[in-house]
Amino acid sequence: MATIELPSFKHTPLDDIASTTSQLRASFLSHKTRPLEFRIQQLRKLYWALKDNEALISEACKRDLGKPSFETYLVEISWCMNDCVFMANNLKRFAKDEKPQDIPMTNMLMGPRIRKDPLGTALIIGAYNFPFQLSVGPLIGAIAAGCTAVVKPSESAPYAAAVLEKVLAESLDPSCYTVIQGAIPETTALLDQKWDKIFYTGSEHVGKIIAKKAAETLTPITLELGGRNPAIITKHADPKLAAKRLLWAKTLNAGQVCVSQNCTFIDREMVPAFIREMQNALNEFYPNGARASPDYGRIVNERQFARLKKMLDSTNGRIVVGGTMDESDLFIEPTVVQVDSISDPLVADESFGPILPILPVTDLDEAIRIANSVHDTPLGTYAFGTKAEMEKILNQTRSGGASLNDGFFHASIPTMPFGGVGTSGQGAYRGKASFDVFTHRRSVTTTPSWIEGLLDVRYPPYSLKKQKK
Ligand code: NAD
Repeated sequence: MATIELPSFKHTPLDDIASTTSQLRASFLSHKTRPLEFRIQQLRKLYWALKDNEALISEACKRDLGKPSFETYLVEISWCMNDCVFMANNLKRFAKDEKPQDIPMTNMLMGPRIRKDPLGTALIIGAYNFPFQLSVGPLIGAIAAGCTAVVKPSESAPYAAAVLEKVLAESLDPSCYTVIQGAIPETTALLDQKWDKIFYTGSEHVGKIIAKKAAETLTPITLELGGRNPAIITKHADPKLAAKRLLWAKTLNAGQVCVSQNCTFIDREMVPAFIREMQNALNEFYPNGARASPDYGRIVNERQFARLKKMLDSTNGRIVVGGTMDESDLFIEPTVVQVDSISDPLVADESFGPILPILPVTDLDEAIRIANSVHDTPLGTYAFGTKAEMEKILNQTRSGGASLNDGFFHASIPTMPFGGVGTSGQGAYRGKASFDVFTHRRSVTTTPSWIEGLLDVRYPPYSLKKQKK
């Protein structure tokens, strides 16, 4: 089979960053992006460019992350294409003026309404693990809202970043939307520009850098940050179902998923059955082993591989399923580790890889207490047990989202707002939320001229007669 040639990744010259940003700002101020027809046209063109470049996108994700083609289709290509269609079909409804609620009768005369104005020029910074979805998803919201935007994909997925640049250049108005390529120096130069919105996806550590920088210019931000998400399995859960669903959540994208569970707190009674079922599920997913399977991805680069290896080397836990790895291939087998303390690095830190620590607990109360002490505002919470137990878990924890009786299902629904809470992020997107996150709700009234007689009371001098009215 002929090899697919991919465009090469090139850092944007630092000297170009200020002028590119000014051009996008000038385009915004020219009101070019205001008409809904323009925005819908851009979304449609983006849809077709994604479709036309399916093979390149798939190849790029394979080279960057060993991503299986089916996964790339599901979570990158069709994911973004569906978002384009949804947004284009619903944009007129989202952009319509809203009637405000609870307006006093007399103020209704002023025709109060809420306009949906674009925030302006936006900076979108993406992470490497879903290199299309995490950059194109927010961009769809920015286009729909009428913003102009710079997209800065992650340099850790360079093939995908280069293909993304090609896709956007082929489809979108270059005076309104562009890609800046690079790593820390380029992102730092971007952060030195004036933005009307910054939308960042990535680690908590860098999220703080972004937030500090944005605070200097009071720029609104949305932060989609890291995991350390708990799964809780009570003694009444179905171990086979829990094992299969949680293994899926840690094998998709080789576990490089912000919403996958970081540690599973499991009732001690359930441990042997759960481990057995994990092994069964692993055999079922990859009958010839994960390494030989075309359906299992790889770790993105040597640095992340070394980080994961170090985590496994420093755990005090016992590997009970999997455990093989090969640096030459950036392969890490899905690996279940039974740990005995929350201070174990596999529990305390975000693994962001195919490692599944399990920590046995005495009962549900202890599981909830421990989960809250590890991270009281994670991105996701996953509960397995009776209906009442799962409701108790929701009632006694906080998290950006939650899936009951599953791994991160909630995050796969395209029209549900997705986002963190506390240190796992602020703001949300997807569906209508993607439009809202780049939109300013502008309250507007129109005072009729004929009403002047009624308004007379507000003008000085505030005579006694007026005060008695
Ligand atoms: P990262 O924070 O290292 O990089 C994300 C982006 O920030 C990249 O574009 C990178 O170039 C830029 N960046 C890195 N260092 C920077 C600096 N010092 N100054 C300015 N910009 C900088 O994250 P990553 O390694 O790409 O992704 C992994 C992390 O992202 C994990 O913590 C994961 O949980 C999180 N994540 C969150 C979500 C979400 O939706 N909440 C989605 C994916 C990943």
